[in-house]
Amino acid sequence: METHEMPKNYDHRTVEERLYAWWENSGYFTPKIDHDKKPFVISMPPPNVTGELHLGHAITAALQDLMIRYHRMLGQPTLWLPGEDHASIAAQYVVEKSIANEGLTRVGLGRDKFLERVWDWMRRYRHVIAQQHRRLGTSCDWTRERFTMDEGLARAVREAFVRLYNKGLIYRGTYLVNWCPRCTTALSDLEVEHEDEQSSLFYVRYPLEGTEDEYITVATTRPETILGDTAVAVNPDDQRHAALVGRKAILPVMHRAIPIIGDASVDPAFGTGAVKVTPGHDPTDYEIGQRHHLPTVNILNDDGTLNDNAGPYAGLDRLVARKKLVDELQSLGLLVKIDPYSHAVGHCQRCRTIVEPRISTQWFVKIQPLADPAIAAARDGRIRFVPERFAKTYFNWMEGIRDWCISRQLWWGHRIPVWYCDNCGAMSASTQEVLSACPKCGSSRLHQDPDVLDTWFSSGLWPFSTLGWPDDTEDLRYFYPTDVMETAYDILFFWVARMIMQGIEMTGQVPFHTVYLHGLVRDEKGQKMSKSKGNVVDPLVVIEQHGADALRFALLTGSTPGNDMKLQPSKVEGARNFANKLWNAARFVLANLPESYAPAEIEHQCQLWEAQPESLSLADRWVLSRHNRLIGEVTRLIEQFQFGEAGRQLYDFLWGEYCDWYIEIAKSQLNSGDEAAAARTRAILLYVLDRTLRLLHPFMPFVTEEIWQHLPHEGDALIIAAWPLAGALDDEAEAEMGPIMEMVRAIRNARAEYEVEPSRTIAAIVVAGGKAELVRSHADILARLARIDPAQLSIETALQLKPRQALALVVSGYEVYLPLAGLVDIDRERARLKGEVSSVGREIERCGKLLENAGFVSKAPAEVVDKERAKLEDLKLRLVKLTDRLNALQE
Ligand SMILES: [Zn+2]
Ligand SMILES: [Zn+2]
Repeated sequence: METHEMPKNYDHRTVEERLYAWWENSGYFTPKIDHDKKPFVISMPPPNVTGELHLGHAITAALQDLMIRYHRMLGQPTLWLPGEDHASIAAQYVVEKSIANEGLTRVGLGRDKFLERVWDWMRRYRHVIAQQHRRLGTSCDWTRERFTMDEGLARAVREAFVRLYNKGLIYRGTYLVNWCPRCTTALSDLEVEHEDEQSSLFYVRYPLEGTEDEYITVATTRPETILGDTAVAVNPDDQRHAALVGRKAILPVMHRAIPIIGDASVDPAFGTGAVKVTPGHDPTDYEIGQRHHLPTVNILNDDGTLNDNAGPYAGLDRLVARKKLVDELQSLGLLVKIDPYSHAVGHCQRCRTIVEPRISTQWFVKIQPLADPAIAAARDGRIRFVPERFAKTYFNWMEGIRDWCISRQLWWGHRIPVWYCDNCGAMSASTQEVLSACPKCGSSRLHQDPDVLDTWFSSGLWPFSTLGWPDDTEDLRYFYPTDVMETAYDILFFWVARMIMQGIEMTGQVPFHTVYLHGLVRDEKGQKMSKSKGNVVDPLVVIEQHGADALRFALLTGSTPGNDMKLQPSKVEGARNFANKLWNAARFVLANLPESYAPAEIEHQCQLWEAQPESLSLADRWVLSRHNRLIGEVTRLIEQFQFGEAGRQLYDFLWGEYCDWYIEIAKSQLNSGDEAAAARTRAILLYVLDRTLRLLHPFMPFVTEEIWQHLPHEGDALIIAAWPLAGALDDEAEAEMGPIMEMVRAIRNARAEYEVEPSRTIAAIVVAGGKAELVRSHADILARLARIDPAQLSIETALQLKPRQALALVVSGYEVYLPLAGLVDIDRERARLKGEVSSVGREIERCGKLLENAGFVSKAPAEVVDKERAKLEDLKLRLVKLTDRLNALQE
């Protein structure tokens, strides 16, 4: 491809969308199945259709795209399969809100009409999130994009359900479940979020049966549930109440006689030690009810209003009823007191409504038989976690796992594939979308279960349902099992664990061998981002301002596996500056291209030099070796999932070594008048840049591709260029170059300390012992980079006398003397130093006296004493330095 001049400035706005469309249209994201090669596969965690792109998506996309681009460059057929999740509960909620603007309700519309509205909504918005993902540069195969409600995936859901059902691993039963009265559905334990809330603890007296003035007092945070009580319980070892066990109390308002029972689960320290028992609305009470064969009374309707079992309170909302009942108890003289009380209250993860435990008939997965093989897979190493500590979290949850409630009383989602026969009463699960005849009696009078499945039931099938399972497709055979599951640690249980369980159960294989978990992205102060705090960073705004590359690089280099990270705006700006720095470096290289080489020849030539470096300058040898070392390190770090460190090393090399040193030295070599040396320099500049761009491509895909397209190259695109292999290291060159760089740094620091204007050249004497010849051969580098006047630079083997009135620097065995006359006004500096020596002296005296004071040392906090000691040490060191400097100025 031809090269052309690069614009002066890099403008991500004109580059990113153009390159993305070009990559996508060129088919680079779509792998070619090649049975001689091992593929690399990631299933993208499908974002919710209802979602807007947030930083969680951005970090997920950056990490996965990095792995995908790396493996693609290794030459593996690489599949990153994208898609969207139908998110039953969230989507239904959003559409209900949207039709409310037209004065419509879900129930008013009816199931079919409402579902049409949801599908309309899906058609309009489903691709928004996919479009937003494109802005991040995600190189996923959009030709294989899937939606969890696609027909193929719906079939997979029915197949999985029926298999589990036929094995007896799915059952229907009446149990206490978490109920959201707003969403009017059951929720799994994971979908309930507990938050500490300030509420009240109500103490209520229940009269004892057959007495006029005896009571037992119970305490509760939900007085309205009194209406559903079927017992009072005390701890049998609690002497205060033991005598009452076996008697009966009269339930206030309801006038029902309920037994007083003894149960060891009652905490004598809570309230009065006597508790009311409501098996229909509390998990602990439900268990007590089971143990004591108590009746279970459900007092709640689906929407959180009270039903006929609540007697005079029927029809009222539960919170209205609470207030009214408390008033009534008060007027009856049964309310003893109300104490403030703080406790954890469960909320619906989707709509934040307070969740009510409620007895209801639901579908469950008997989970232990699925969990056991999933535990074994992580124990025996078929699945590993990065970072490893999450294996422990996984085992803890999986070993205590409870059956999974999978039915939801929603309309949007995968309908439970179970039919009830109205003729014979049989219940049949079927993989057919519509069951037309009862398998038992042949009747066509059937009705389908009205509920839908928990969205995570279909998400759990994602790694294989997207590849065509249950059919035996070529994709499934070639791309499954996938390789890495990369996601946020907060969906380890929701999703990762369920994919492992369902993957092993349905396919007999683990769905992936590695689980990489990343942390949350927090704001610059480390706070969680939330709309209410107003600290949410919108990735699309950042991309618009600084580019997707800058956002990605800041996220990647700020992250370590499994840990939350802070996103500082300065980090994104730094990453953008890095892209600009690279652009400018490339412009320099482009302005100094080798004339007569083709890229392959340059590569060949540079590899020959790496093996036989005799003709090269030290700087040439050094930069080749450093970049080979970088290739090895970056490759190793990516393989070990240490992406942040890999990015930091790339940054340090490109900015700190290639740009700041090699390009500066190259300027001398190009202008030295030695044509052969200049030609070598041009070749090395290009070669190192090309190979380093390849390493950086998975981190910053756009700027690297754009630069690469301007450079002479073979092959169509950097995105499919080969990952470089590390060549020979030149330890000797690195060892020799190190001290020269240190000398330059030391001289630069000294210049800064003495505030020498940048344009002014100074004099220097270097004492280099046996290395004098070596240093002499690099005198030009030293002079140029440290701004020394070449005529006033002398490099000696040894000195008879140390130079007077010179600043002495000791660097890796070399001594450097900078005559002070060139740096400062000696008289003024001497006076300034004298003043400073005496003020530091006074401080030392003060500090020393304080520390000799036994009273201070014994009474002051240890850290204060330590601080004073450290301060004294610092002051002493400072005094030595100042005195040295002053002595150097004395005649
Ligand atoms: Zn809800
Ligand atoms: Zn039948």
